[in-house]
Amino acid sequence: MDPREFRDLEANNRSPRIVMLSQVVQLIEQQQRFMITSHIRPDGDGLGSGLALYWMLRALGKEVDVVLRDRVPPSYNVLPASDLVVVQDDVIQRYDAAFIIECSDVDRPGLPSLKDQFVVNIDHHSTTGPFGDINWIDATAAAVGEMIYNLCKALGVEVTKEIAECIYIALLTDTGSFHFSNTTERTLKIASELVRRGVEPARISQALFYSGSFAKVKLLGLVLSNIQRDESGRIAWIAMDRATMYEADACEEDSDGIVNHALSVGEVEAVAFFKELTPGAYRISLRSKGKNNVAKVAEVFGGGGHRNAAGCRIEGEFEEVKRRVLEGLQNCIGVAPVSA
Ligand code: 5GP
Ligand code: MN
Repeated sequence: MDPREFRDLEANNRSPRIVMLSQVVQLIEQQQRFMITSHIRPDGDGLGSGLALYWMLRALGKEVDVVLRDRVPPSYNVLPASDLVVVQDDVIQRYDAAFIIECSDVDRPGLPSLKDQFVVNIDHHSTTGPFGDINWIDATAAAVGEMIYNLCKALGVEVTKEIAECIYIALLTDTGSFHFSNTTERTLKIASELVRRGVEPARISQALFYSGSFAKVKLLGLVLSNIQRDESGRIAWIAMDRATMYEADACEEDSDGIVNHALSVGEVEAVAFFKELTPGAYRISLRSKGKNNVAKVAEVFGGGGHRNAAGCRIEGEFEEVKRRVLEGLQNCIGVAPVSA
């Protein structure tokens, strides 16, 4: 079936264009040339899920390109086939279908012509709408990696060591090494099966968490030494300007993960990490504990994410950006605003 017919069939179906796993299976079985992508500044779930899907489609004899706007961060070179990722500013070929992994909208991958492809949107963010031609969204999945594992089973593809490693990395990173509240019995069952299929957890953790640069640890020290908190002690924040980054001889990627250290303070329930991108433009990472939903705070500024991990980008003068975000966090966790 032509992908366009597939869309018409869905549209006539009256229900929203949210499809089931079986329909994604059907599309894969019927088509031959696929592209896989994920968001800019790719992370473990986007990369791991995307590359697992790459291996699965290859096992079925399909032609597959994995295309990203940004390069694979070096720690993720442990992912099998990470060296095959094509880094481009746009999509230059015509595919039967393009899988977009873990994105809130068709623009998040940063590939302008992607919208002209037949788009398959696969995500586990409850905030993601049906922007694709077909959409498979499961907000109960800890990571898209869980969904890709189910897809693998449904396609009847053997879970090879390569597939297992890719999915394991997706699960490990999106659950904060199985620390976050999205970790369920299903997550651990799948992880267990992946280990049975050849994943060596210590080798993966070594590559992801114990192979950083000196600059990364130096940056961690500089940024954390300036941690601050509000009067309630329940909200903390850290910031990284360009000068700090240069002082550590670090790059922006080196700041990934620092925000989680700020959350390790016992009384702290929510944290914000302000990263200066260019003068007057900030990328904000939000983290929280328990029921405090920081995705709602990020959404106010045009970003998004999960209840306990979200992000957005805001332009403006630092003090003003900080004031707006901290006010959002105070409302979120129910702290009375601190008087000016
Ligand atoms: P991080 O703080 O690690 O950059 O992002 C944490 C999570 O927030 C990501 O996994 C993603 O779900 C979400 N996120 C971060 N930045 C954005 C953004 O600009 N837009 C959307 N929709 N989600 C974001
Ligand atoms: Mn994810």
